[in-house]
This record gives sequence, C-alpha cells and structure tokens, in this order.
Amino acid sequence: MSYSLHRTTAVLLVSALLAACATSPTGRRQLMLVSEDSAIASSAQAYVQEVGKLKQEGKLSSDKALIRRVNGITERLVAQAIVMRPDSAKWDWSVAVIEDPETVNAWCMAGGRMAIYTGLIDQIKPSDDEIAQVMGHEIGHALANHTAEKMSVAMASSIGVVAVGIAADNKGAAMAGAAAAAALAVTMPNSRTAETEADRIGIELAAKAGYNPAAAVTLWRKMNSLPGGQPPQFLSTHPNPENREKALAGLGPEMEPYYRADTPRPSHPVQSVTALN
Ligand SMILES: [Zn+2]
Repeated sequence: MSYSLHRTTAVLLVSALLAACATSPTGRRQLMLVSEDSAIASSAQAYVQEVGKLKQEGKLSSDKALIRRVNGITERLVAQAIVMRPDSAKWDWSVAVIEDPETVNAWCMAGGRMAIYTGLIDQIKPSDDEIAQVMGHEIGHALANHTAEKMSVAMASSIGVVAVGIAADNKGAAMAGAAAAAALAVTMPNSRTAETEADRIGIELAAKAGYNPAAAVTLWRKMNSLPGGQPPQFLSTHPNPENREKALAGLGPEMEPYYRADTPRPSHPVQSVTALN
C-alpha cells in the first residue's frame, strides 16, 4: 500500500469517525460512515440515472388519474414532513410512478426522491388513507436518515466500489461508487429498528395530513395476505407482522387527535416524475 493511499485511508477514517455519531428524529443513535449531505447528493445522482433508464424503457406511468392521486397525497405528507424537519423544505421532493404490475413496493431516497410501483396499486388496491401510510412510512425512512445508514453498511461491507475510486485517485469513480451505494441502499433491507422508526413517523405524518391512522393496520394486513408466499420487498425484513400490527394499532389513540383535528391540511409542491413530463 502506498503512502498516499495510507494517508487517504487515514483521512477517510477520521472523517468517517467525525460523521459517525448521529441521532434519528426518534432519539435513536445511529452509526454513520456517510454524511446525510453526501447521501442526498449520491441519491440525486442515482435517482436521475434510474428514472432516466425507466423513461427510456417506457416504464413510467402515463395514468393521469393515478399520477394526480399519488401526487395529491404525497404533497400533503410532505407539508407535514417539513413541519417535522424544517430543513427538508429545501429538498427536491419528487415522486415517480413506475409502471410495473409485478412489483409491490415504494421507496424514498435521501433528499425526498420517491417512487411507487403500479403493482402496489393493482395488487393491494389501497384507499387514499392506505397510500398515505405507504408513502408516509417511506418518507419516514428519509427523514430519519436511513439511506445514509444503509449506504454506510453498503460501503463497509463492500468497500470495493469506493476503494477502486480511491486507488485510482479518481474522483469520478469514487462518486460513481457512492451513487452505486445509494442505488443499492434502496434495495437493501432496513433494520427492524429502522422499520419501527419509519412506521412511527409515517403514521404521524399521515394523521397530521388528515389520513386515518386505522389504515396503517389494514394496509399491512393486506400486504401480509398477498398471495404467492413471497412477501413484498419492504415487508421481507419485518420478522413479526403481529407485533407490527399491534404496535401500529397501539399508536392509534395518540394519532387520532391529529387526524380528527379541525385544521387545514396544507400541501407542499412535489415534482411528478412520469411518462407525461
Ligand atoms: Zn420500511
């Protein structure tokens, strides 16, 4: 190993340690090797690549009614996300509706870039309240900085992508490695703790946006009873559906006043990423 590589490694280690202490919105301590800002930058790059590819392949939805529906719901959730985390007002909030009837999934990257698959709509047939729970949960992952957490795991477990960039002293390659880690993070399972955190944030965002907290229970019940045996991607890491259902139902009384409150339910603009633009 050359001196400069030693030094680069040392610098990386020091900055990793500096970035290593973080606290999630629910007060949990997180180990971070990637700063949230760099997770957001890498996610932006990954999102543009992914969405560009989907568009080329004709896999973005052109269903105007569905697009309007998803956008209307996410805009109300995002308004509440910004109340919870004011600095997220500067995020490039956007949502892609992906035409893929086989995939029952949705996600939100660092920085508020979201997607929902038509498979979730076709197979779950969710109400607006239930879509709000799905997207609220995914937004919860982003607000709690779970992308950076998973990127940290991706980088720690396969430092190869990053190491190649460093060894070549090539900033472009290192950035491509980070974007790859960001793209990978979306497909990686969250920890059980992260899931519980996202559930809690999601049901609260939804209730404050005027969506029924009872829908959290019906949604996950529908998810769990999908035919085919294989649970949807974002259920596969949650080992105990009964516990989850109980926890969500237990949050109901606390959420009910937010849902019932006679207050306006504002919207915050969310860019629609579809076949129409
Ligand atoms: Zn999740």
